[in-house]
Amino acid sequence: MPRPTIDLHSHSSVSDGTETPTQLVRAAIAAGLDTLAITDHDSTAGWDEAVAAAAGSGLQIIRGMELSTRYEWRSVHVLGYLFDPHDADLVAETGRIRDDRLTRAERMVSRISEDYDVTWDDVLAQSGGVSIGRPHIADALVARGIVRTRSEAFESILHFRAGYYLPHAAPTVLDGVRIIASAGGAPVIAHPATRGRDAVIDEGMLEQLVDAGLVGLEVDHRENTSEGRATLREWARRYDLVMTGSSDYHGDGKPNRLAENTTDPESLEAIVACTRGVAPVRA
Ligand code: AMP
Ligand code: FE
Ligand code: FE
Ligand code: ZN
Repeated sequence: MPRPTIDLHSHSSVSDGTETPTQLVRAAIAAGLDTLAITDHDSTAGWDEAVAAAAGSGLQIIRGMELSTRYEWRSVHVLGYLFDPHDADLVAETGRIRDDRLTRAERMVSRISEDYDVTWDDVLAQSGGVSIGRPHIADALVARGIVRTRSEAFESILHFRAGYYLPHAAPTVLDGVRIIASAGGAPVIAHPATRGRDAVIDEGMLEQLVDAGLVGLEVDHRENTSEGRATLREWARRYDLVMTGSSDYHGDGKPNRLAENTTDPESLEAIVACTRGVAPVRA
């Protein structure tokens, strides 16, 4: 038997992926995946459609989310797997983040529109209306012909140094890990080593996160540097954390392809064993 292909990080049009949950699941089936986690930013709104789309295919769906958090001035993404989507704290916190994402995006667009011919309605037309972010502003700028691609928008107008950037509200990374763990989920830090030495978390914070219920680190991700991955592997050994690998697929919104990085079945088993919210689904 070949090893099953497991990809634990993907986005649909519920957040900033370009494919609906159904299209995302079909792409995963076409790519020959055994297991796909749907992990939209700050929302579980794609779960039911993804599970329905996978029915009868044999594809296993892991229900998850990528929670936006902060550590000092840094934005830290925490993947949460198999938590209870009705947990009151989790529902309240993700609602706050999505509400603030909306007003923050509108304020960013109002700044951008002083210099470029783009409107808030242009941006709303690009979003699924659930979890809005800079990628949807990027899509509006592309639609207006101001830039050619999302990546070009992020390198210019949407860059945090370009003068239009505004942060959005988010819990601290410690609170984010606590929220996911107390909702019965398994928290895993997403792409923790994207900036070389200037990693998103340091070992002191990692120790606190482990005490708060952190389960794993996303080691194999295209944006983690190779030195950063070596440090993450060392930390995983030292603190007995699960290591994952994932694509962070966004459809056409990013070059990342499904299963370009994958997770071992043993690691997925260890993640599932830590959870008590919802179960993996394979039908
Ligand atoms: P936001 O959370 O609204 O500040 O936007 C950050 C999101 O933009 C992340 O979740 C990424 O998925 C996406 N993103 C960041 N850089 C790029 C890029 N160069 N091209 C496309 N999407 C990007
Ligand atoms: Fe994203
Ligand atoms: Fe992320
Ligand atoms: Zn992601």
